[in-house]
Amino acid sequence: MPANDTRAEWAFVGLGANLGDAHATLSRALDELAALPGVESLQASPLYRSKPVDAQGPDFVNAVARLRTTLSPLALLAGLQAIEAAHGRERPYRNAPRTLDLDLLLYGEQAIDEPTLTVPHPRMHLRAFVLAPLADLAPDLQVPGRGGVAELLAGLDFQPLSRIDP
Ligand code: ATP
Ligand code: CA
Ligand code: CA
Repeated sequence: MPANDTRAEWAFVGLGANLGDAHATLSRALDELAALPGVESLQASPLYRSKPVDAQGPDFVNAVARLRTTLSPLALLAGLQAIEAAHGRERPYRNAPRTLDLDLLLYGEQAIDEPTLTVPHPRMHLRAFVLAPLADLAPDLQVPGRGGVAELLAGLDFQPLSRIDP
């Protein structure tokens, strides 16, 4: 039987942090994501700095990772939440500042509607801090039901966002 590769799927994960050393946290989280059992390869976008949306607090550092994985969507979500917890993520209230947030944006072309997991991420198409790094990795990507990343991003130029030099 062929190796697990036949079952591997691609996925995109959005990363964000605005407490502590957000830049260092994102770098470590990308390494930890790549090291999750069942994650076969990972490419990281450049890092961006953004203002909080619908919230107070320090600026965010954001990025997106593309990975190939044999993990199921729920197993991948569990892996993301374990990495968040290891970075001291707390959820005192909605949109609170956070040491680390990892969102599953897309999982192949699947539409998932579970109590704890909705994919495509239901707000990703409204967020320049998601779409800009996503477009860096996959400029021709279509967000199912929403449109192309570049077109979606073009409509959000009112959201301040700057790329962080490597
Ligand atoms: P937003 O979802 O608007 O980006 P948030 O990231 O601050 O907000 P969290 O507090 O991190 O929200 O997550 C709340 C819950 O969302 C989680 O417990 C998780 O079960 C659920 N959830 C649903 N769909 C997803 C997804 N695609 N990625 C990550 N979590 C998800
Ligand atoms: Ca989020
Ligand atoms: Ca989240």
